[in-house]
Amino acid sequence: MPLSEDTSPPVFAYCSGCSHSHLHRLLLEVLSDQGWADRCLGVSGSGCSAGMAAYFPFQIVSAPAGQAPAVATGLKRAFPDKLVFTYQGDGDLSARGFDVLMHMAMRGESLTVICLNNLVMAGSGGQMSPTTLTGQITTSTRLGRSSARSGRPVKLAETVARMPQVAFSQRVALHTPLAVEQARQALIDALHFQENGQGLGFIEVLGWCPPYWDRSPVEAREYLTAQVLKTFPLGLYKHKTRRVGL
Ligand code: SF4
Repeated sequence: MPLSEDTSPPVFAYCSGCSHSHLHRLLLEVLSDQGWADRCLGVSGSGCSAGMAAYFPFQIVSAPAGQAPAVATGLKRAFPDKLVFTYQGDGDLSARGFDVLMHMAMRGESLTVICLNNLVMAGSGGQMSPTTLTGQITTSTRLGRSSARSGRPVKLAETVARMPQVAFSQRVALHTPLAVEQARQALIDALHFQENGQGLGFIEVLGWCPPYWDRSPVEAREYLTAQVLKTFPLGLYKHKTRRVGL
């Protein structure tokens, strides 16, 4: 459902090496390969990905900060035949709108929620987000995140999985070819739960933010492998039709 006939490429809004671009491409491949692109509706959050509509050939609704799950709920109820997904960063989803997500999970809406977790509030200047690692330096934690002052990182996939009405919850990453293929399958699985009306599918995708991690894109992947995965292990945390241990 193109918004206009203008086929000129959009100005690229992301930093060089930004993981949003990787996830956008993967998501588009999944939707196209599965034949879903023509009946998709996306809802973007606030932050760096707020302008993602420029890269998708169907409508992306821009939600107020933290409200993407609420907006998606309304869209799904108004257009039940659409495949509706939200796409938020960790700052938007877990700081500004965690309550909105939890209420959506409590209601068991048949929707798909995608979170690109890059451990910082990149869109507002690289401040600490709820998922920032203990000890991680951000623009608001110049000596590193302190668990005494700020608590420990929120584990999104595990937390969402514990809500009884949630059908599917998985944490994936994009740092290796194998990880990308696992992320592809997770997106397909989560969207199938929506397609079958079986409840909420949640996918946490570990990404990176080179400028606010103060690392090159290659170094950011190395940091993800060496440090991030210790706090955020990849895994399937909920699958409605399979037994999964937390
Ligand atoms: S600041 Fe970080 S998340 Fe935002 S566009 Fe740049 S690399 Fe991507």
